[in-house]
Amino acid sequence: MLVYALPGTFETREDHLDLLWEAGATGLEERAGLIRAYFDAEADLPGEIRDGQWQNEADQDWLAAFKANLRPVRAGRVTIVPPWLRDEVESGQLPLIIEPGMAFGTGHHATTRMAVEALGTLELQGRRVLDVGTGSGVLAIAAALLGAGMAVGVDIDPITIPIARENAQENGVPKGRTVFLEGTLGDELPEQAGEEEFDVLVANLYAELHDLMAAEYVSHLRPGGPLVLTGILTSKLPMVHDALNREGFTRIQVREDGEWALVTASA
Ligand code: SAM
Repeated sequence: MLVYALPGTFETREDHLDLLWEAGATGLEERAGLIRAYFDAEADLPGEIRDGQWQNEADQDWLAAFKANLRPVRAGRVTIVPPWLRDEVESGQLPLIIEPGMAFGTGHHATTRMAVEALGTLELQGRRVLDVGTGSGVLAIAAALLGAGMAVGVDIDPITIPIARENAQENGVPKGRTVFLEGTLGDELPEQAGEEEFDVLVANLYAELHDLMAAEYVSHLRPGGPLVLTGILTSKLPMVHDALNREGFTRIQVREDGEWALVTASA
């Protein structure tokens, strides 16, 4: 990467910026009292801007650096890993492979980790699980790997749906055991979600949304069905508590990890 570093700022050398563009700069940025102009090749520069220096800098591949730092995440019985670390999962642990990308849910956030851990403590064999705000699909896929008969993930962000489907495929989840749909509760859930109530509902959203959707959680869960909510800042726990009490949930329990909380309850 070829950079021409010119003393000054965009403000102090406003008149010289056009000269840099005219000389063939492909980009300009200002950093620590220098204007950094990116070039494909050294250019013949006019006198007004000859007080800078050409420098060759090593290319930084930020994505590669981020990927190199990822480690497996242990969440109870499950270990969440990117595809290239699948061999690092300890024996006895259930591998859950998530390709880090545009959708939230690589397992590196405390809320995802706590939710996967909580799913691992439930009896999911053959159960129908609803994951609201599925992101990468991590929680629905975890449920399927833990034995759920069908896990439905919904998300209002359409970009997440193909990502979640690919992650399910990467984990070898049989077709039909996970279903990912654009949408939310309150919308009519499409036919593929099935007609019946769900046995388990998990949602990693945020406190205000849990408050708004608490009534929907009741109507989508079978009586007694476990509810797993996270994405909740500990400071907002009273709001979630009040919402669950209001809607008649019982056996409310809280787990905390730093500033984040996970709440479980029964419908
Ligand atoms: N489930 C993943 C996890 O646990 O890591 C992702 C959780 S991420 C914090 C929240 C996701 O909820 C985002 O993908 C966002 O698009 C989605 N979302 C936000 N509001 C929503 C709503 N009202 N209904 C459904 N999904 C929603």
